[in-house]
Amino acid sequence: MKVLVAGAGGFIGGHLVRKLLSDGNQVRAVDIKPMGSWFQVHSGAENLGLDLSKLDSCETAVKDVDQVYNLACDMGGMGFISNHKADCMMSVLINTHLLLASKNAGASRFFFASSACVYPDYRQMDSDIPGLKEEDSYPAMPEDGYGWEKLFSERLCRHYREDFGLETRIARFHNVYGPEGTFDGGREKAPAAICRKVANAVQKNETQIEIWGDGNQTRSFMYIDDCLNGIEKIMHGDFADPINLGSAESVTINQLLEIVSSFTSKHFTKRHDLSAPQGVRGRNSDNTLIKEIFGWEPTIPLEVGLKATYDWIDVQIKSGNTDKYSRF
Ligand code: NAD
Repeated sequence: MKVLVAGAGGFIGGHLVRKLLSDGNQVRAVDIKPMGSWFQVHSGAENLGLDLSKLDSCETAVKDVDQVYNLACDMGGMGFISNHKADCMMSVLINTHLLLASKNAGASRFFFASSACVYPDYRQMDSDIPGLKEEDSYPAMPEDGYGWEKLFSERLCRHYREDFGLETRIARFHNVYGPEGTFDGGREKAPAAICRKVANAVQKNETQIEIWGDGNQTRSFMYIDDCLNGIEKIMHGDFADPINLGSAESVTINQLLEIVSSFTSKHFTKRHDLSAPQGVRGRNSDNTLIKEIFGWEPTIPLEVGLKATYDWIDVQIKSGNTDKYSRF
């Protein structure tokens, strides 16, 4: 099978290329970043540098490809998306042009990486809230900028399937973490940021860690291996509506710090920055639908995934290999 991974130089895309190659696929890997900045470059893939917001680049990328995975997006953690709403919304060009080019080139399937940021703020006002069900996304009031782009692109995928017969599949990722992703510079997400802060503190013999907000905001975090398994199930399954792909293990950001601290022999005090962006107060994934459709949900415990992530970030920091993973 010839497949395209758009956004292959990024965190999830880099891991997905590895998995698709090991499953015996012919992979074309595409990203806008210079190849030296890709988090993973797999020699078994055809690696191309293209700006997929442009239609002609998308046409080059999908040529002779049967299946398309769109993970390309201008995004980051809360610190980025709350201050770059227009940039986030411009990713609409990537999905729009990739869909158009895929349809014209006769691709059979198209995967879109959506996000839990499509869910309305009004359902996420408390830290102790029920998990978000797929139908909760309407009436719409998603995360401003980034979430609106994802919600619009979800609908465009749906209409490409209904009107043109392109089999689109849509996963709403809830926070994904793991090695080989951004951990510094402003685009990093909470798990990577906390691992970096703790690893730095250990090295500098510091005892205080900065936490954004009071730390009682809740989230769930899915390890990359669960994400990859879920992508393949959703891509190759029959279910075409948007579906949650996330862990249902909810923790506060303070608890996240406690888990990461437990990997060290140190005790840290917290300094809460109440002016920093914090996003919604509480968010978790309701996995009823994915369990019903696939008899499966993400299962890798947070402690296990965080340990692997912390160890990897610690090694990068100690070896001075931080530039590539420090993005803004
Ligand atoms: P990432 O930033 O590591 O990877 C995205 C890649 O897309 C980057 O390498 C970037 O250079 C590339 N890209 C951006 N604009 C491009 C363009 N015009 N042409 C070609 N490539 C372009 O992000 P990620 O964490 O791997 O996320 C992958 C997808 O999953 C994104 O769509 C993201 O919105 C979605 N998602 C991720 C998470 C998460 O927790 N990581 C959560 C929800 C949704």
